[in-house]
Amino acid sequence: MKAARFDGEGQISIAEVPTPVAPAGEVLLRVKACSLCGSDLRPWRKGWPVTPGHEIFGIVQHPGHALHGKRCLVYIPVWCGQCPECLAGQHHICRNANELIGWQRPGGYAQYVSVPDQCLLPVPDDIPDHLAPLLLDTIGTAGHGVRLSRKIVNSGKALVMGAGPIGLGGLLVLQNFGFERVEVFDPNRFRREFAASLGAVALESVDLTAAYDLVLECSGKDAGRQTALEAVRAHGAVVQLGESDTWQVHETKAIRRKDFYYIRSFYFPISEYAENIEILRKKRPQFEQLVDAQVPLEGLSDLFVRFAAGDRIKPQLHIHD
Ligand SMILES: [Zn+2]
Ligand SMILES: [Zn+2]
Repeated sequence: MKAARFDGEGQISIAEVPTPVAPAGEVLLRVKACSLCGSDLRPWRKGWPVTPGHEIFGIVQHPGHALHGKRCLVYIPVWCGQCPECLAGQHHICRNANELIGWQRPGGYAQYVSVPDQCLLPVPDDIPDHLAPLLLDTIGTAGHGVRLSRKIVNSGKALVMGAGPIGLGGLLVLQNFGFERVEVFDPNRFRREFAASLGAVALESVDLTAAYDLVLECSGKDAGRQTALEAVRAHGAVVQLGESDTWQVHETKAIRRKDFYYIRSFYFPISEYAENIEILRKKRPQFEQLVDAQVPLEGLSDLFVRFAAGDRIKPQLHIHD
C-alpha cells in the first residue's frame, strides 16, 4: 500500500510499504479520509518515526468481523478498559494508554491502518465521508472543553483565541450551547473573517479589560495564553485546548489579583460521541464550510504547505475507491 512518510523540515514522501496485518483484537481499516490538524505540524517540521494522521475515517475491511464493511471513525487513545479512568468511562485519559494512533503507532495518512476493536466509532449513514472526521478533534475535542467549562460558566460573553479548526469548532459548539455572543481573535485576517462568516464577532485585537465569562485558548501560542489569563473575568473560566512543547506566560497583576478557573481538556470521552453527532447534524451547513480542500495522497505534501501558511481551515486527505 501507499503511505506518507514525514521526513522532516516540511518534506513528505509517499512510500510503498507492506499493508498492515491486523493482529488479534484489531481490524484493518481502509482509509477514506484523514483530516489535517494543527498538531500535525510538529511531525511535519521534525520528521516522524511512524505515519502520522489521527483524524481518521474509513471502512472496516475485515471479513468475519461484526463491523466488516461498516463506516467508522478512529478513536485514537488505545485504552485499557481496566484502569479507574476507563471504568469511569473516561477512556480518553486512560492511564495505561501509552499509544495514540497516528502518534506512537501508524495513523491515517495511508491507504490502510490497523485499528484496535475498541477504537472503532461507527458513523451513522446520514453523515457523509468528508464530514465524519470533524466528529473527532473539531467537535469532539472542542466540545469536551466546552462541556467541562459548563460546570463553571453556562452563558455570557465568550472569547475564542485562535480561529484554526479547534477554535472554529469551539465557536460552533458554543453557539450550539446557547452562548449569545462569541468573539474570536486571530492575527490571520482570512481566519478572522472566516469566523465572522460563521457568526462570530471577529476581533483585530483583544481588550484585556473586557472581562470574558469564558475564554477558549485554541491558539497554542504564549501570546494567546497570556491574553486568555488576563481577559477572563473574576470567577470566569479559561479552557486550555491549544498545545505546544514549551510555555511561557508572565504573571501580571490582571492574572494574580483574580479568582478564576483554569481548565485543561484533552480529546473526549466516547460517551460524548452521540451528542456530538447531534451537534454536527444541527450545524451541518457551518461545519460543511470548514472542509475546504480534499486531496489524494500525492497532494498531501503541497496541502501541508498551504495549511501551515494558514490559508486552509480543515483540509483533508481523501482517498477515492
Ligand atoms: Zn487533531
Ligand atoms: Zn484504562
